[in-house]
Amino acid sequence: MMATKAKRRFGQNFLQDPQIIDQIVACIQPNPEQSLIEIGPGRGALTKPLATLRSDLIVIELDRDLIPKLQAFLPATATVRQGDVLDFDFAEIPGDLWIVGNLPYNISTPLLFRLFALGQRIKSMIFMLQKEVVNRLAAVPNHKDYGRLTVMAQYHCHIEKLLDVPPTAFDPAPKVDSAVVSLQPHQRPNIEADDLSILSELLTAAFGQRRKTLKNSLANLISASALEDLGINPSARAETLSVADFVRCANVVSRNRL
Ligand code: SAM
Repeated sequence: MMATKAKRRFGQNFLQDPQIIDQIVACIQPNPEQSLIEIGPGRGALTKPLATLRSDLIVIELDRDLIPKLQAFLPATATVRQGDVLDFDFAEIPGDLWIVGNLPYNISTPLLFRLFALGQRIKSMIFMLQKEVVNRLAAVPNHKDYGRLTVMAQYHCHIEKLLDVPPTAFDPAPKVDSAVVSLQPHQRPNIEADDLSILSELLTAAFGQRRKTLKNSLANLISASALEDLGINPSARAETLSVADFVRCANVVSRNRL
């Protein structure tokens, strides 16, 4: 079968480096009760080894032209779904989930937020992403990469960068560096936000003007004295706060709004 031309609008950069493929697949170890889902299987670089690991693999691919090619090598026990993963209803898949994929970079952030909302049903996510996004997901306080995405992601998941991947590992080569990241949803929250939309609002205010002090950037949400009551210096900047600090602030805002 002729390989179809890679489509830029679908973020198609196909993995071609066997060593990288092996390294990624080695990290994917669902137990038999957990469903394994691959997002964006493409031409099957990861799908082929994953299907030998799990013949009941589920794949979700947007590009209609790739569907017959996937069906041609996948066992009958696998499920091939054509469509946009952002519209996919994960509730229809039973049990706990392992979700993996070399993701189209243009949908990675909205997709992550949708997956975070599934909470503890997801046991593990292993994704190839733009390296810059992985650095933001895994960032620590007082670092330039630490921001809204970091706090939201680490609120939901334990995050570990697994490997850096150069553009030469793909065909065609992307313009940016990539990295593989593991996101493991916390099975019990370390600290619980009363209202996630308020946490999100607080983070947008705090990091929207990240060079300002908290008492300025958060003036419309929480007072300087309420920050002090939480043990947070109102003259500090957003990037100095831990995830737990932000959740505690958000919970004060939530309670003030009741
Ligand atoms: N897994 C393959 C590999 O590693 O070679 C392909 C990875 S490529 C970066 C991303 C894949 O996601 C493409 O096959 C693309 O068609 C598919 N895709 C793009 N947008 C999608 C969406 N919204 N939902 C599902 N699949 C999508």
